[in-house]
Amino acid sequence: MTSSLLITGASQLLTLRGKAPRRGKYLSDLGMIRDGAVLLCSGLISAVGARQEIEALPEALSAEKLDVGGRVVLPGFVDSHTHLIHAASRVEEYELKIAGASYEEIARKGGGILNSVKKLRAATAEALKKRAHGALREFAAHGTTTLEAKSGYGLDVASELKILRLHKELNAEQPLELVSTFLGAHVVPAEYRRKHAGAERYVALLTETLIPEVAKEGLAEFCDVFCDRGAFSRGDSRKILEMGRQHSLAPRLHAEQLTRTGATQLAVQLGAASCDHLEQVSKTDIRALAKSNTVATLLPGCDFHLGLRHYAPARALIEAGAIVGLATDYNPGTSPTVSMPMILSLACTQLRMTPAEAIAAATINAAYSLRRNRQIGSLEAGKQADLAVFDVNDYREIPYYFGLNTCWMTLKKGRAVFQKAHA
Ligand SMILES: [Zn+2]
Repeated sequence: MTSSLLITGASQLLTLRGKAPRRGKYLSDLGMIRDGAVLLCSGLISAVGARQEIEALPEALSAEKLDVGGRVVLPGFVDSHTHLIHAASRVEEYELKIAGASYEEIARKGGGILNSVKKLRAATAEALKKRAHGALREFAAHGTTTLEAKSGYGLDVASELKILRLHKELNAEQPLELVSTFLGAHVVPAEYRRKHAGAERYVALLTETLIPEVAKEGLAEFCDVFCDRGAFSRGDSRKILEMGRQHSLAPRLHAEQLTRTGATQLAVQLGAASCDHLEQVSKTDIRALAKSNTVATLLPGCDFHLGLRHYAPARALIEAGAIVGLATDYNPGTSPTVSMPMILSLACTQLRMTPAEAIAAATINAAYSLRRNRQIGSLEAGKQADLAVFDVNDYREIPYYFGLNTCWMTLKKGRAVFQKAHA
């Protein structure tokens, strides 16, 4: 394959090159090149730099040319926290939320995660796949090139395996890259809640049956637990994540979303790749994250959709030196969005992150949280040619135009996977 492509005409080329992950002041370093160029060859980036320098390379002469007309070029977004596979929206809960019912009240009324579980178990693999394909096309249209996908709406052996097998099939059938996470420990399913010592027996099902099976079939890279009130205790979370680790599934955690449980400390102790949500973190938790290599992944879409005013303390995390990441948390209950540009807008206005910090959090730091920072998350020679082109001439306009998708083109491994239709 000799498919080379020379991209020029970028008003700003955000390379995000250099040290990964980004912490503190370095988080806002975008490695920007004005009037830069990128040369792509066989799905990889072969050179990045000033236009004149790149154009003079012998490979550049024979390459196909793409002038992006003064737009902004950056690495494709890495969405490091999604619940991609689900059967349907939960719009029936939307007005209850607006009227002020809490997430936990809705769960008690038979809504919430268990509502999605009921729908997923009843859905065919074909229907789930069709819905996911539609969502993946939308992710691509918003500049995302890699996403993590969690199971967790099955909560029995057959349904959890059905979701994880779909991750594998979807990864092969469409161009975006999926990173699979096993989240059997989302909540305790209804049938176990009715049993004596139900939670304990469900944890045993996860650790003795499901985790070994998931590992044997190679269906996930990560193991995640929702550690919170109404979900799993810190003790159970440790048991599950340690068993996952024994089976080569690296830990991640849903931590301190509704209540502070100490899940962050657990994540740091276990060397988790990521610790997500963090609305309720304490100062001690922030210090622990700052000293660790666990990414603090913030999900402002959740608080926005639920109408909560208490967002995660992004500034304190950045200033302490934690590795901050951003993700959509695409899911039907708390964050029904595929839009990383919208997440950047929320990061800026609600988390008080600068546009530059938000972009680094959504690219190189997110890639680090998926243990793929050597392949993706920045535009550097040797990395995958995953790029997004936005129809703006200043990168700050990506979050500035909130609710508007200014993505113009998305390339995965050098191939256009989305291109805005010409008006
Ligand atoms: Zn989640």
